[in-house]
Amino acid sequence: MLKSKVITASQLGQVIQRLAQDLNRDLVDKDPVFVGVLKGSVYFFTALTQLLSRSVVVDFIQVSSYGASTSSSGTVTLVKDLTVDIAGKDVYVVEDIVDTGLTLVDVLALIAARHPRSLKVVALLSKPSRRQKEVPLDFVGLEIPDVFVVGFGLDFAEQFRNLPEIWEFSPQGEGGHEARLEDHRHK
Ligand code: 5GP
Repeated sequence: MLKSKVITASQLGQVIQRLAQDLNRDLVDKDPVFVGVLKGSVYFFTALTQLLSRSVVVDFIQVSSYGASTSSSGTVTLVKDLTVDIAGKDVYVVEDIVDTGLTLVDVLALIAARHPRSLKVVALLSKPSRRQKEVPLDFVGLEIPDVFVVGFGLDFAEQFRNLPEIWEFSPQGEGGHEARLEDHRHK
């Protein structure tokens, strides 16, 4: 069930504005391609890219996790590949949340294999205490403790992505998820 709102829509707006300012400075002299990692990053990705002060190419990649693998690679399988050629481009990977880092390590390896000129990571949320793999996060919105969160693109069993804010979520709870969403969304 949804427990408590941990980041409000207005706080998200401020964080994304700050990230866009940092990115706008970084984009000087770049040939940028912004790559969103589906599906979780979609709400963040659209909000962020609309605040950039120049045109950027956008594309998406989707991977599915094999689960709790501890190997340094091969933890994900490619579900949807890029559609643009990123060779020689300045790629910015946009992630919703970096937890253990295992997914991102593999996504970065997939992208690096296409020979971008540079490769940077933008993450809305990071849980540093959970990290198993060192991943370079160039732009981070907020660091959060080890709690499971939903909303603003983040799901539990594909639900709750469309909440406009971030909520702490506990899988233990009664009643349907839709009902809970209805209960909480105007609070
Ligand atoms: P990692 O490979 O870094 O452990 O996990 C990355 C992916 O796990 C994220 O892209 C996200 O899909 C999922 N994930 C990690 N933490 C959370 C969380 O607190 N809430 C939700 N909804 N998904 C999470």
